[in-house]
Amino acid sequence: MFENLTNKFEEIFSSLKKAPSLNEAEVDKGLRQIRQALLEADVALPVAKKLIENIRPKAIGQEIIRSTSPGQMIVKVVFDEIVKILGDERSDLNLSAVPPVCLMLVGLQGSGKTTTAAKLARYLKKNNNKKTLMVSLDIYRPAAQEQLNILGEKNSIQTLPIVKNQLPIDIVKRALNAASLSGVDSIIFDTAGRTQIDISMMSELKEIKSLANPIETILVADSLTGQVAVNIAQEFKKAVDLTGIILTRVDGDGRGGAALSMKYSTNTPIKFIGTGEKIDQLDVFHPDRIANRILGMGDVVSLVEKASQDLDDEKIKKTEENLKKGTFSMEDYLSQLRQMKKMGGMEGVLSMLPGVSKIKKQMDNANIDENIIKINEAIILSMTKEERLNPKIISSSRKKRISSGSGTDSATINKLLKQFKMMTNMMKKMSKGDTKDGMPPEVFNQLK
Ligand code: GDP
Repeated sequence: MFENLTNKFEEIFSSLKKAPSLNEAEVDKGLRQIRQALLEADVALPVAKKLIENIRPKAIGQEIIRSTSPGQMIVKVVFDEIVKILGDERSDLNLSAVPPVCLMLVGLQGSGKTTTAAKLARYLKKNNNKKTLMVSLDIYRPAAQEQLNILGEKNSIQTLPIVKNQLPIDIVKRALNAASLSGVDSIIFDTAGRTQIDISMMSELKEIKSLANPIETILVADSLTGQVAVNIAQEFKKAVDLTGIILTRVDGDGRGGAALSMKYSTNTPIKFIGTGEKIDQLDVFHPDRIANRILGMGDVVSLVEKASQDLDDEKIKKTEENLKKGTFSMEDYLSQLRQMKKMGGMEGVLSMLPGVSKIKKQMDNANIDENIIKINEAIILSMTKEERLNPKIISSSRKKRISSGSGTDSATINKLLKQFKMMTNMMKKMSKGDTKDGMPPEVFNQLK
């Protein structure tokens, strides 16, 4: 996420931070580099200009230039201004309406509306304990309504049964009726998208909006399209008055131009970001945390939150106990690997830590294979219970069986066994309080 911009900022800041003192000309040089980095990240020109305009007077202020760590203080100024341009405060969903609370999703075809409808319904269930009805109003794209209903079925979210040849307005009426009869708390309307904005699309949306009277009208926009997404948002804002934006595919967006420009250009807050195709890959948009990530300072708060959400406390406790008792087995290792997978694998975890790009570069250089989690999982699953509890008994004939079961070879199994042995040795040492060496290089190398 936003790694190109993060790399640039890290470069600029590291030279600013190195300087024992800074004069106005040097600060200006840094600001020019920041402006350039923003434009390269596809940030809209007025936004880049505004940011620099806001940063400059503070960065060249006498108290900064004369301070003992001018570079550090400039980083803080840049951080504060980026937070402001991103929207300052987290903007929560507004749900204060008489139930059923209606939320309407709008956007171009392929922007991720249908996926986001299901993600939002799951979010409402998990965070607000709200039962949601999802309704597709896309009668134009073949199978669009079916797509939403299949997603609903897969994820136990209620959907409105499909009645062929019904117009969107009639579907809205039916949904409102069904919702009041079945006692759902909220309705998410997934409207039709077109490949480009057209008049008939907008007039249909206005009609739907006046009938459904949604408390939230949310644009779903593709982060990868950068400034195009911003222009689209402006058009939708004019036509149907948006209350919020959800940026999708942020996971694949190295630049971040759309995220940085959206709030300032449309005066509409980003409420969530989509960070993957799976239903749980929807994150609340926190301007300060995003600014931290953009500036390469990591997002440790989100990482801790994610860990407490995704991980299974019981399993962690059990693993810890086994560790202390010195009975850490392949079963524990498997459960650790799975917890790691839940958190988005090694890359998911590392991307949230400070100094992101450096670690990522190290990882790329070290050639650590993300697939290793999957491969190791397959190997452990092909072991018998006895073998998992006591890997020492794994003889070469057992290895043969395991390798055919897991689709790997003996060398890969040996690597895992060696890695496991090193880990258990290291853990034994650490549980005795010997932590001075940290992770030995052999273990790190084994991950390659
Ligand atoms: P719609 O036409 O607007 O309803 O778009 P869809 O919901 O069908 O999404 C189009 C494609 O984008 C699908 O393949 C989704 O899985 C994918 N997608 C949606 N949101 C995200 C996201 O946040 N990240 C990634 N990587 N893919 C996404």
